Amino acid sequence: MSFEFLGLSDELLRAVGDSGYTEPTPIQRQAIPTVLQGRDVLAVAQTGTGKTASFTLPMIDILAQGRARARMPRSLILEPTRELAVQVAENFEKYGKYHKLNMALLIGGMSFGEQDKVLDKGADVLIATPGRLIDQIERGKVMLSGCEILVIDEADRMLDMGFIPDIEKICNLLPPRRQTLLFSATMPPAIKRLADQFQKDPKMIEVARPATTNVSIAQSMIVVPERSKREVLRALLRGEDVKNAIVFCNRKKDVRILHESLTRHGFSAGQLHGDMEQPERLAVLEKFRSGELPILVASDVAARGLDIPGVSHVFNFDVPVHADDYVHRIGRTGRAGRSGTAITLATEDDAEAVATVEKLIQQPIPRREVPEGVKLVEGRASSSKRRGERGAKKEAAAEKPTRSRRRKSEADKAEAPREEAKPASAKPAAPAPERAEPRAEPRAEPRGSDRERGERAERMERGADRGRGRGRDERRDEYRREDRRQRYQDRDRERDEPVLGFGDNPPAFFLVAARGPEKDEDKGA
Ligand code: AMP
Repeated sequence: MSFEFLGLSDELLRAVGDSGYTEPTPIQRQAIPTVLQGRDVLAVAQTGTGKTASFTLPMIDILAQGRARARMPRSLILEPTRELAVQVAENFEKYGKYHKLNMALLIGGMSFGEQDKVLDKGADVLIATPGRLIDQIERGKVMLSGCEILVIDEADRMLDMGFIPDIEKICNLLPPRRQTLLFSATMPPAIKRLADQFQKDPKMIEVARPATTNVSIAQSMIVVPERSKREVLRALLRGEDVKNAIVFCNRKKDVRILHESLTRHGFSAGQLHGDMEQPERLAVLEKFRSGELPILVASDVAARGLDIPGVSHVFNFDVPVHADDYVHRIGRTGRAGRSGTAITLATEDDAEAVATVEKLIQQPIPRREVPEGVKLVEGRASSSKRRGERGAKKEAAAEKPTRSRRRKSEADKAEAPREEAKPASAKPAAPAPERAEPRAEPRAEPRGSDRERGERAERMERGADRGRGRGRDERRDEYRREDRRQRYQDRDRERDEPVLGFGDNPPAFFLVAARGPEKDEDKGA
């Protein structure tokens, strides 16, 4: 089936043709005609399935009629992270190049002034993260009463990050007569409830998880002692036919350590984690996309959902805490029909987590041998790792950089060897001695509520940091407890309602007068 049968305009078909797509993906086949009919859509689909085009394409045609008014966007797309918002904006630009639509991007890390200007011009499409959008609504810069189409993308990710109260608040500000499209990789009860609450008779669409069905990803696992992981990774990066690779770590701290270690060994690598400022994150991503940096060491929070076509390898330096993250991670490779390789490094302690992943993907991950020439160092954690654990505790305390810490860190940076211009190859230029201890970096002060909420998941990472030395079960429970606690705290903050007790039906013992301390006259009575 070709795109021509979906009911899209000639201009859009031309833009799709320019993108090189010949056939719609299953989600596009099902969603595009439905959205064009004006019906709500509830779709279970992950990134990698072509879901972004499944809503941007029909939206462009719908919005082609009509004009936007100042501060009153005609459609709204909610994304959980800034990177995803930027990606969707890029899609709009790509597919909307033969249309004259105004697009505004509201994400944390960009100046309010710039964003105000775009909104004042009138936006046909507003792409936003929930926190920043609420900030702008509260500043009177955006009114949602003219919004005809709402897209809630990556809804389960929004749930993980504690955004659901924000989304409920936003939905209540939109006119009741609107079209609501909800996309989620999974459908937990909280998302189903959200759909029930804010959608009308949606068409249910479910497409296969790309990672579970994607036979073009060659998955494998190597069981290694913790202390040998870095050496094994280096051997794999040298030995495999790696064009470019994303290396995932569970903790931000390990992202930094591993990035530094790879750089010291001559690899041309970048890092991506939640403590980095937005412009820095985007710059690194751009370098990775362009091939200037062939290796990207990343945390889940920063990298989830990113569409980077043509990633040849994904390495899991750690087995993810949540099995779902495994699917997301390896889904960064083997995209849009290309083949890819995903290699996971696991320790014996990870057995349970590995079993959970294999249950989720409904297949065993083939084991493979340690690369030739690597001498394994037995033991759970190196002394540097243990020092790292103690440091991890300090990491949370170091959230706000003090002047002395900042000075130290700047001094550290000055002392660090300058990076030579390296060839864009995943192979190392020249090995350098390993450094045991990572350098402390100043942590940017969180700004605004979007930043605050966006960092919730990153606090989760810190949770994992704290529990490094303990059992996986304990770490996972702690992670979940923290998640729940954060969500409740947010919900309570958002609601700002008085706490209601028993209303008109208090239990009888509540109504019995309390006895005060015994007085003399009581004694005499
Ligand atoms: P998404 O699921 O939206 O993140 O898209 C995943 C990747 O598939 C992106 O790189 C898209 O550019 C690409 N893509 C989207 N639609 C198609 C299509 N019909 N044919 C081939 N590739 C596509």
